[in-house]
Amino acid sequence: MKTSSKKKRLLCPICHRIFWRYKSALKINKAKSSCCSKECAHKLKSVDYRRRLATNPVWVKNVSEGTKKAMRRPKTRNKHLAGLKRALKKHGVNFKGGQNQEPVAFVKSLAEVLLPIGFIQEHRVFWSKGRWYLLDFAYVQEKIAVECDGPKHRAQKQKQYDKIRNTRLKKLGWKVVHVPHL
Ligand SMILES: [Zn+2]
Repeated sequence: MKTSSKKKRLLCPICHRIFWRYKSALKINKAKSSCCSKECAHKLKSVDYRRRLATNPVWVKNVSEGTKKAMRRPKTRNKHLAGLKRALKKHGVNFKGGQNQEPVAFVKSLAEVLLPIGFIQEHRVFWSKGRWYLLDFAYVQEKIAVECDGPKHRAQKQKQYDKIRNTRLKKLGWKVVHVPHL
């Protein structure tokens, strides 16, 4: 019984094998002892492997379920919430513009022009049940949208996404004007 309290039951993040590790070892090197073997630890360290893991739906599911489970334990939950509180105190409320972005100067200056003439900012347009697009500026009566496209929108993937978005908005009767900026 004495040994079990000194050891901790762990799940190898690489091969999903259950193993036991001395708690004292965890204190010394958490990263190294979080895997069942040297090979697994090496894999975990490699950035390439982690990148591949992040795109693996099974792994993502395992991690999110593991986190959910851990958050049900009062000790973990309190620890986590305390950390969040500390971060809030240090960095303040992290309220930003759409998609958690700080509104850039360009958007702010555009707001000065558009808001007085009846546009509203961050307008939600539902295109499916529970799914919406957040329009930068919208003149709701006439269904006119003004979108500020930053550097992110020049990426190929984003372009494809914007195309789908535009088609969906058009179908709903919206006229979308894109204003590119740096
Ligand atoms: Zn392993």
